[in-house]
Amino acid sequence: MRDAITRLNAALEGRYPVERELGESGMATVYRPDDQRHECKVGRKLLLAVAVALNASCGPAPPAQANASTLSRQQMDFERARHQMVEEQIEARGVTDPRVLEAMQRVPRHEYVPAEYQARAYSDRPLPIGLDQTISQPYIVALMTELLQPEPDDRLLEIGTGSGYQAAVAAELVSEVYSIEIIPELARSAAERLERLGVSNVFVRAGDGYLGWPEQSPFDGILVTAGAEHIPEPLVEQLKPGARMIIPVGDLSSFQILKVVEKLPGGEVEIRDIIPVRFVPLRRNEQD
Ligand code: SAH
Repeated sequence: MRDAITRLNAALEGRYPVERELGESGMATVYRPDDQRHECKVGRKLLLAVAVALNASCGPAPPAQANASTLSRQQMDFERARHQMVEEQIEARGVTDPRVLEAMQRVPRHEYVPAEYQARAYSDRPLPIGLDQTISQPYIVALMTELLQPEPDDRLLEIGTGSGYQAAVAAELVSEVYSIEIIPELARSAAERLERLGVSNVFVRAGDGYLGWPEQSPFDGILVTAGAEHIPEPLVEQLKPGARMIIPVGDLSSFQILKVVEKLPGGEVEIRDIIPVRFVPLRRNEQD
């Protein structure tokens, strides 16, 4: 089987005119192939997409008032929606790693979005999580996880905990995930959420992820889930030889290119471009 990156690069060669779609709660940038040659195996058009900054705030979840049967019906609806999400948004666009697909099927995305967005938790888009930040589009989460080629014994670093969703997906596949979030309120709420949901192998801390987590390094893989202007040197240093970092890099006012940065066994670094994406910016703490 061809390597995921080779396959994606082949599928994505060139032709991605950018098309802007206005969604009901903000904007989403969608990249469409302009011909039919990229049709996937289930015959749907390959539709590649992307994360966006949505200006919305999120309030506290209303108290749960549903009775037991309503709750279980709701859980079944979420389960079905998740199944559809995996088939139509993720598998259909070429993510094939069965472990990644299973993780996307298991992790309850609706638990990671504010109550007012739960009904749209399985839609094909990023959603606001408050404080001007977003939870990434499900396809992008799956793609980044597949590109990392996670192994069960791996210890990963994530920059940009946000809701904790990407960390929870990765945590299904590896032994430990260390995740750094620059906004202390988000770090706290993600840590609480992960604990409530029984995810015990994600360790969250508040801070500037640009600097990595030297005490826990080196890592078997690094996921950066905010758009960077350049590849942070401290993160490259904290990768094990042979390990990969998946990072969106580029102009923060338009879109970035999702890149795979591989530290080769000899220490040299190889960089491959995957697809255009749009993430919220990787910020810096002023005192650092
Ligand atoms: N992975 C998240 C979504 C990330 S949104 C999820 O699954 O929900 C990007 C996040 O990166 C935001 O929460 C933002 O506050 C955070 N961020 C931005 N710059 C950062 C930095 N330098 N260090 C750590 N987190 C950062």
